[in-house]
Amino acid sequence: MSKPKKLIFKNGKRVLVDFDEVSRSEYDKQYNRRRAVEKPDYLKFYHSTQWQKVRAEAMTRDLDLCVRCGNKGYLVDHIVPSEDDWSNRYDVDNLETLCKKCHQLKTKREWTKRHKGVQRAMKVHVISGYPGSGMASYVASKVDTSHDLVFDYDLLMSSLNGNLIESIYSDNDNQSNNQDKLSNIKSRLHQSNVDIYEYVELIYEMILRKLRTERTFNNVWILRTFPDERLKNLLVTTGYDVEYLRLDTTREECTRRLKTVGRYTDSMSTTMDKIDRLDDEGLFDDYKLIKTKKRKK
Ligand SMILES: [Zn+2]
Repeated sequence: MSKPKKLIFKNGKRVLVDFDEVSRSEYDKQYNRRRAVEKPDYLKFYHSTQWQKVRAEAMTRDLDLCVRCGNKGYLVDHIVPSEDDWSNRYDVDNLETLCKKCHQLKTKREWTKRHKGVQRAMKVHVISGYPGSGMASYVASKVDTSHDLVFDYDLLMSSLNGNLIESIYSDNDNQSNNQDKLSNIKSRLHQSNVDIYEYVELIYEMILRKLRTERTFNNVWILRTFPDERLKNLLVTTGYDVEYLRLDTTREECTRRLKTVGRYTDSMSTTMDKIDRLDDEGLFDDYKLIKTKKRKK
């Protein structure tokens, strides 16, 4: 026996559907009605001219495409939900265009987090040091991989510019018949590509913005060669416990290590000069020095 049917409006047309089907528009209506009663500010906000303006601005910026998958955009959504940060609701930087599917996925994930999520400690450790100072080894000795987040800025950079692939390739494939191919790749990849910085920064900022609103991790480890003032500004309002650490491995020792593994290039010494200059300017003053073990001779 077929199910009982009902007549509903779908995209302006009358269609026959199963009686128990709750159409999206009905669901939306119910949702909006409930919200109008529970949170009248919301409705006022979504009807405001200012919202219409920033919404259009965001859509134009995103070229009417979903920022997550590139399909046609369906709506403009708050990255940090306005429920969590009401003051951010008109900030165009906090808006993203999404398609229907990506928005549903995001909403589902947010709901699960809100209702079943565990609040974690969110202790933030910012680790700094010269290249080769052993930042990654330090974090590796402390990290709890099940509930920690490790953000290695430099590693992300080398994964985006292809140097990571190159190093894996050269580790796995040291046969001499591949040396030509290898040196070819090396000379190509070591040309710096400034465009990549913007992408690394973008990912970094997105992660920081998200970290501000979620207590998802016990520890967040941020590895960065250079101190970053924006990081402090972004984290200062969260109330998280933030510690700034710097490995005390000397420049000489780091240079020696990098040379041993063939990673010392001209750009390395430029980087180290920059670190020394920032140090003189006092940008590491609130960093706590971490003693590293001396290598056995
Ligand atoms: Zn999408």
